[in-house]
Amino acid sequence: MTISKELLFRSCSQFDVTVSDECADRLDTYARLLIDYNEKVNLTAITQPDEIVRKHFTDSLLLLRYVTLHKGTRFADIGTGGGFPGAVLLCAVPEMDAVLVDSINKKLDFVRFLLHELGLKAEVLTARAEELGRKGEYRETFDVVTARAVAQLNQLSEYCMPLVKVGGVFAPMKGKLEEDEQQRGFGAIANLGGKVEKNISLTPDGAQRHIVIAKKISQTPTKYPRNQAQISKKPL
Ligand code: SAM
Repeated sequence: MTISKELLFRSCSQFDVTVSDECADRLDTYARLLIDYNEKVNLTAITQPDEIVRKHFTDSLLLLRYVTLHKGTRFADIGTGGGFPGAVLLCAVPEMDAVLVDSINKKLDFVRFLLHELGLKAEVLTARAEELGRKGEYRETFDVVTARAVAQLNQLSEYCMPLVKVGGVFAPMKGKLEEDEQQRGFGAIANLGGKVEKNISLTPDGAQRHIVIAKKISQTPTKYPRNQAQISKKPL
């Protein structure tokens, strides 16, 4: 099994994202390992190579259009699951200082195996984001925090914003973002010390995608993040 690199280059260039040959080779291996591993552990419903290229790889790499990642960028992907978008972005920018987080360890076993096979380095952490946000070694230390398809924007913001350093960026990736969710989410971002700078709607491959770029302009009040029960019972 190999992915169509031609399709990868073409679908990314639609969004002005350039993919190197090395990155394409890594993603080829990624797709093969994902399909094999997915037989044992359910990581994704998307298992056709072209679909993986469009719906996982291109969709993840899209972030590079809006966020600069380079050597030493301290980056976190919250709720990475099978590595989306974090491990894909690491294939493009292997020198970044990445932390890939999920609360489900068996998904991260795949991510650890994948990174080992690709010779890539990242901290792979089984944890809930809101727990990391209360730990000094993670709180307000990240240049960029992203999360794809993890939670409603207001709850997701409470998971992620405490991790972003002042001057850094929170870049959630969603499918549809309804007006109501958007309003509550933007309110939460403001309460947590952020300012929405870009609110991007895209339709890669006909599917509705939404990326928000919020800059952290002041420290998150120390009462946040609250615990999971409070976050879901009384969302911001
Ligand atoms: N981001 C991946 C993707 O786009 O394919 C996985 C999305 S999956 C729908 C959501 C993931 O977020 C799950 O793997 C879940 O375990 C994780 N998750 C949900 N809430 C979390 C939290 N508070 N902290 C860490 N991981 C969380």
